[in-house]
Amino acid sequence: MKTIFTATLGTETNTFSSLPTGLQLFKETCLFRRGSYGDKAPMFAQPLEIWRRMADARGWRTVESLCAFAMPAGKTVRKVYEGFRDEIIADLTAALPVDAVLLSLHGAMVAEGYDDAEGDLLAHVRRVVGPAVPIGAELDLHANVSRQKLENVTAMVLFKEYPHIDVPERAEEVFTLIADAVEGRTKPVIGWFDCRTIGVFHTTRQPMRGLVDKCAALEGRDGILSVSIVHGFPWADVADLGSKIVVVADGDKARAERLARDLGMEFFRLRHETQPRYSTLEQAMARAATHNQPRPLILADVSDNAGGGAASDSTFILQAMLEQGITDGAIGMFWDPMAVRIAFEAGEGAALDIRLGGKLGPTSGPPLDLRATVIGLARDATVSFGGRDKSYAPVGDMAAFEVNGIAIVCNTLRSQCKSLDCFANVGVDVTKRKVVVVKSMQHFHAAYAPVASEIMYVADRHREKRSEKRSNPAAPMVGCFAFGSQRRRRVR
Ligand SMILES: [Zn+2]
Repeated sequence: MKTIFTATLGTETNTFSSLPTGLQLFKETCLFRRGSYGDKAPMFAQPLEIWRRMADARGWRTVESLCAFAMPAGKTVRKVYEGFRDEIIADLTAALPVDAVLLSLHGAMVAEGYDDAEGDLLAHVRRVVGPAVPIGAELDLHANVSRQKLENVTAMVLFKEYPHIDVPERAEEVFTLIADAVEGRTKPVIGWFDCRTIGVFHTTRQPMRGLVDKCAALEGRDGILSVSIVHGFPWADVADLGSKIVVVADGDKARAERLARDLGMEFFRLRHETQPRYSTLEQAMARAATHNQPRPLILADVSDNAGGGAASDSTFILQAMLEQGITDGAIGMFWDPMAVRIAFEAGEGAALDIRLGGKLGPTSGPPLDLRATVIGLARDATVSFGGRDKSYAPVGDMAAFEVNGIAIVCNTLRSQCKSLDCFANVGVDVTKRKVVVVKSMQHFHAAYAPVASEIMYVADRHREKRSEKRSNPAAPMVGCFAFGSQRRRRVR
């Protein structure tokens, strides 16, 4: 009987964030050992559950180790990362011999002393199992893929979709790749290309849509097993930052490298067209003032995305809505445990004075002092991803306040606004509101696009135009050409 060893470890580290990623944040987001989550796997345990099911179907034994994932924030505390790594390595050592290792990682985890934490983990795993045992990894497309990661895996598969609606499909893909290698049907080799590009790439529109579909169509023919576009995570100051192409081929490394280069050059040529069109706050408010469609105008507060390590308590857009006199709106979710606590004490229907948001620092803006009515409360709430009920994530206790016709949703576990549950859990029906602000970069899109009349990605007041002229990704980079506004907000 074959034995596969599986584990999950990851977070997406915003090295500009002042919030440390410690044990508490892992506990609040996802921390289980040896399948202790039981029958209902949380969102971050989905790959483990899928790998166990696929192994069972082949009559293989699964040894499942740690399942640890933290909501994106600042650097992971050194002893926390080292503790998790050592735990996985101890479990792996105890499970030997194993026929394969499958790891669900994020790929952009930075710990104190480890700019490439998951690369360090993979190097440790490789040392334990030796060169012959296949190691497969599933990564978020926002990974910063290093040579250390690439050289210590047999196959690597990244999500193709942003929003990440294809986590289960990619988990199945990497299992099949590794299982075929275990059974001697294939010899996976990796070719990769560094596009030397930093940006944000929505796969919901062209030209990224076409490029993703093209990559998928190349798979399963001419010896190409898998093609991944590494978007990279822009909010990290690490050497391995940036976009890459990773191709897994059957035995022919030169073919994999050629294809990676061709696709990488195509990706590079599209680098301007692929960037999101951001609106200023003033443009968004002007649009909101004239909006009269039956379906809501959705404003994405991209700079305050908890999913990218932001505080999720910035007040810039809410303040603008109040100044604008918008009276049929909703905004969420503010990470404000104190406001939630006060709302629970006062109870539903209570009118009270509340100081809201703006607590984490200058990037959060000033706190707002508001006269509010508590309109909804929910204990120990969870939300799905894009309305997919099979995956859920805890968001803590939730409270909704109404202020001058604007529903303001707060919660106690910092979370990105990914689904309609982020409002519906506390009785706010966003489909009936005119202007809805979601604190999210792009994951909101899967659930909100179907109910929206229009979506605007709102950046800050002072968008600067940068340009650079390069025809070759190997030419020196003269500056980032697409990112949110967190860095600029810090210095404003
Ligand atoms: Zn991602």
